[in-house]
Amino acid sequence: MLGKSYDFDEPGLLSVISVGVPGKRTFFLVIGEKEEWIRLWLEKEHLEALSIAIDQFIVRLSQELRQYSNEPSIQSSGDDLPVGLPSGEFEVDQIGIGFDNEKVVFEFLVHALGPQNVDGIMVSCRINPRKVRRLGNLAREICAAGRPRCKLCGRPIDPTGHDCPMQN
Ligand SMILES: [Zn+2]
Repeated sequence: MLGKSYDFDEPGLLSVISVGVPGKRTFFLVIGEKEEWIRLWLEKEHLEALSIAIDQFIVRLSQELRQYSNEPSIQSSGDDLPVGLPSGEFEVDQIGIGFDNEKVVFEFLVHALGPQNVDGIMVSCRINPRKVRRLGNLAREICAAGRPRCKLCGRPIDPTGHDCPMQN
């Protein structure tokens, strides 16, 4: 069953936020305009994968189209937070990224699940390369701001301690 669909063309608001303390953080993608926006809940692994995918895209693009290699990315800042409550909140199921060579925009296609996990929500979003790079940086910063990782096994260390499988 296909539920609602959202379509954003160069949204003014495109950000990543985390809520909660390290180790128990919840991650959201925020898309829309200040007064009309949606919140997409996603796993940290999803967010990490997204930042890596964006990085790879940017690298490939800067090789193909030289003009992007020197273009500075917009610095992440906290001034683009939404106002009020989202008009929708969904759980990310899958994210696809594409690039339109003619229009020089990225295309995000998100398949999300509604509150009962039965409705398929489609979110499509077109954004320019600078904003995509900013989103990728933001995603990476937010992922890295979590718990420190163990040097032996690479798993996150909780404030309460770490039971390392490599230290038996
Ligand atoms: Zn460890």
